[in-house]
Amino acid sequence: MPGFAGLLGAAASVLGLLLLARYNLWRWPRARALPRILMYHRVLPAVTGQGITMNRSRFAWQMDQLARRGARFVTVSELLAAQDPRQMVAITFDDGYADNYQYAWPILRAHGAPATIYLAPEMSGIERLTPAMIREMAASGVEFGAHTMTHIHLPSTDDAQALAEIQASKAAVESLTGQPCRSFAYPYGKFTDRHVQMVRAAGFSSAVTTKKQIKSAEALRAAPLELPRLSMVGQMNRFEFWLTITRGRYRV
Ligand SMILES: [Zn+2]
Repeated sequence: MPGFAGLLGAAASVLGLLLLARYNLWRWPRARALPRILMYHRVLPAVTGQGITMNRSRFAWQMDQLARRGARFVTVSELLAAQDPRQMVAITFDDGYADNYQYAWPILRAHGAPATIYLAPEMSGIERLTPAMIREMAASGVEFGAHTMTHIHLPSTDDAQALAEIQASKAAVESLTGQPCRSFAYPYGKFTDRHVQMVRAAGFSSAVTTKKQIKSAEALRAAPLELPRLSMVGQMNRFEFWLTITRGRYRV
């Protein structure tokens, strides 16, 4: 008969194995000094948070945590150009939801944090940032990148149309902000080598993906058109947030 201590030990082992199977805890944490690019979509009050929607208080808590860890908030272009990228964190938002202005930006400003927002100027079915909101944010240091015109799935679009969408979105963002548009985000994180070439040909100097990785600044600069990002999902709890920030992702 196993004693109480034995049963407790067995239970702890089972719990440990379950945690290892579910979470990335077994992965060694990445150095705090390495730059990180975080991907968000929506921030709303009075929602629990699910998928691309983050609760506003949770977002505020996450920004606090990053600031406490010594994050130096920058745009994607600033991160790539930095002489000393240690501790740099770029907060990015995809699609250009109006709630980025209404709910996320006040929190970001309280931290002196710029953001990088990837606009799909003709994406349908969402409440988009207005041109006035975009101008105001751009004038205050927010970087605006392009995300195609209509949020197309690049691999299932013919090449001529894909290139046209990529080029047109750069021009549209530049006319909205009055500033150069240097960065691109692949819709759905889906692309092939051909699309990387198109993004380069269109004149972008960086592009973000949804590869969940934390890389050195040298590695980011070596492949600036395939930058990894940490995916921040609405339902992540504090433990999962910490795993994502330290390991790049929380799930195995
Ligand atoms: Zn998108």
